[in-house]
Formats: sequence, C-alpha cells, structure tokens
Amino acid sequence: MVYAIISDIHANIDALEVVINDIEKIKPDRRICLGDIVGYCAAPAECIALVENFDVVLLGNHDYAINNRDIIEKFNFHARIAIEWTMAQLSDAAKQTLSRLPYLNREADLSFVHATPREPERWGYITNLDDALDSFHHFETRTCFIGHTHYPIIVSNNGEVIADKKYSWREETRYLVNVGSVGQPRDGDYRACYVVYDSDAGTLEYVRLKYDVENAQKRMRKARFPEFLVNRLKEGH
Ligand code: ZN
Repeated sequence: MVYAIISDIHANIDALEVVINDIEKIKPDRRICLGDIVGYCAAPAECIALVENFDVVLLGNHDYAINNRDIIEKFNFHARIAIEWTMAQLSDAAKQTLSRLPYLNREADLSFVHATPREPERWGYITNLDDALDSFHHFETRTCFIGHTHYPIIVSNNGEVIADKKYSWREETRYLVNVGSVGQPRDGDYRACYVVYDSDAGTLEYVRLKYDVENAQKRMRKARFPEFLVNRLKEGH
C-alpha cells in the first residue's frame, strides 16, 4: 500500500494545492491528513473543502480550537489572532466538519495522530529524544506518524534520529515519523512538505515542493494578519 500523509496545512491553500496535485500524480492507495487544517494562513474554508476528499482526516489543536474556545488561552499571541479571525470566517457547516474529526487512526501496523500517541487530546510536543522514545510505549503498531511540531524527522525505537529524505525500514525496528508541515514548515525550508510511505517496499520519502509563497503572504496581508506570521512563512520557521 502506498500512503500519502500530510499534516499542518494551516489554511495555506497555495501550498495545499501544489501538494495535492503532486499526490494525484502518485495515485496513492490512501490519503491521510494528520490535522491542523486551519490557523496561521488566510484560506481556511478552501483547505477544509480540499482535505475532505482524503481517506482519513484527524483533528489538530487549531481545528479543535475552532469549537473549543477555552484552548485558545494556551495559544501564543499570534496563533490566537489567526484563530479568532478563522472563527469569524468559517461557516457553521465547516465548523461542524472540524468538530467531527477524530484524534487517532490505526490501520494495518500504522498509527496516525496529530500531536502525541501518549495523550493525543493534550496536544503535547515531542521535541527531544527522550519524549520520542517514551512514545513507543504508547502505540502498539510498528510505526506511528505524527505532525504538530512542523519539523520532519524520523526516530527509531533504538534511539536513532534519521533526517534522510529517503529511508528504508529496517527489520525489527519501530519508527516514529514526523511528516513535517504543508503550510508552515519550521525546519528552515519554506517549501511544502509531505510524506510518501510504501508499506510493501518499506520505504519512506519526504517530498518538498515549491509553491507561490508570495501569494499566500498576499492573502494574509489582505486579512491583516500580523507581519510576524506573514514573514515566517518565507523563512520556514
Ligand atoms: Zn500545526
């Protein structure tokens, strides 16, 4: 089975369209989105509509915030401005779509979750090796795919940190894979990021795609988003 796995679109339709066009060329068996469809950029409704065609769509913390105001207090200043704007933009139907998204998906020997397999509903961040290794106790499948930090990286249960663009699964090894971000990468590379995983071949590839980042920024300026959010898009952090 070939899986195309995307995460953290954050209402960046310019990036999402380029990614979806690329995915359609590959024609994967499964299209999976790990959440955070909205927040940070200026085309939330368009992104929700496109992602609805995926086989699996999970809930991210920004998606959750649309129907659960209390969590916004935990957001940083800029994220809060973006989410308040998004709430005012979305139709009731779009909000309902977000409210129905699940935290987790499991199929074959794969788990999928936005933030952490340990406590998906607490939106913790896995940013160091200890936390990554601890997560292996909290999923039963061989591999778990996550998003949330916007940083593409693979960690094995042996403690290897793998930054390869292409990687082949090794026998008797388990993996935690961060698929990176479509709409707001934070690894210093502004290009949209997603993952193609072939479960038969045991291979994973990170795909990076240029998109019209200036157009995404134009939309944000038009919506009067903070310059900090506009600028970080091009800097990739
Ligand atoms: Zn995110």
